[in-house]
Amino acid sequence: MPSRTIPGRTGHPRPLRLLGDPVLAAPCREVTSFDGELSRLIEDMFATMYAARGVGLAANQIGVPLRVFVYDCPDDEDRRHLGHLINPHLAGTDGPVIRGPEGCLSLPGIEAGTPRHDEAVVEGVDRTGAPVRVTGTGFFARCLQHECDHLEGGLYVDRLTGLRRRRALRAAARAPWAKEAAGAR
Ligand SMILES: [Zn+2]
Repeated sequence: MPSRTIPGRTGHPRPLRLLGDPVLAAPCREVTSFDGELSRLIEDMFATMYAARGVGLAANQIGVPLRVFVYDCPDDEDRRHLGHLINPHLAGTDGPVIRGPEGCLSLPGIEAGTPRHDEAVVEGVDRTGAPVRVTGTGFFARCLQHECDHLEGGLYVDRLTGLRRRRALRAAARAPWAKEAAGAR
């Protein structure tokens, strides 16, 4: 669709909220106003995601506690998935649970093998309020589950157990950004 505007082109990157920020730990609110402000938020989210070289971003990661996420993410067949979802919910998961590398823009530089279903279906609406159903497999299914977790106040490290969890949290505590994140609390 070459005539369509590239997402994020008119947006401005906003500061990312990091592990320890309370906005990341609380469930987000439903969007009720489908207005220009929502479109600007989505544009800023794309701009922020691209600037940080991420594949997905939830609104609370830039401090806005609303149920919105954006993505530009490949699946395991290298197909590109690009879009946004408002008021999404995980409508279903299927396939085997696979432990694969996962990171998050709110824990920069850290990655851990995280268990996720190989298939995911997410339902929500777009910025006009029209219903949207997105189906993903492989890495894109992982992304969809990761972003849905954010909107419930969750992080991928919450899904880790034992040594993997301790290792990831230790790395986060020692990360160069940890002091900055602690200062923001
Ligand atoms: Zn994340």
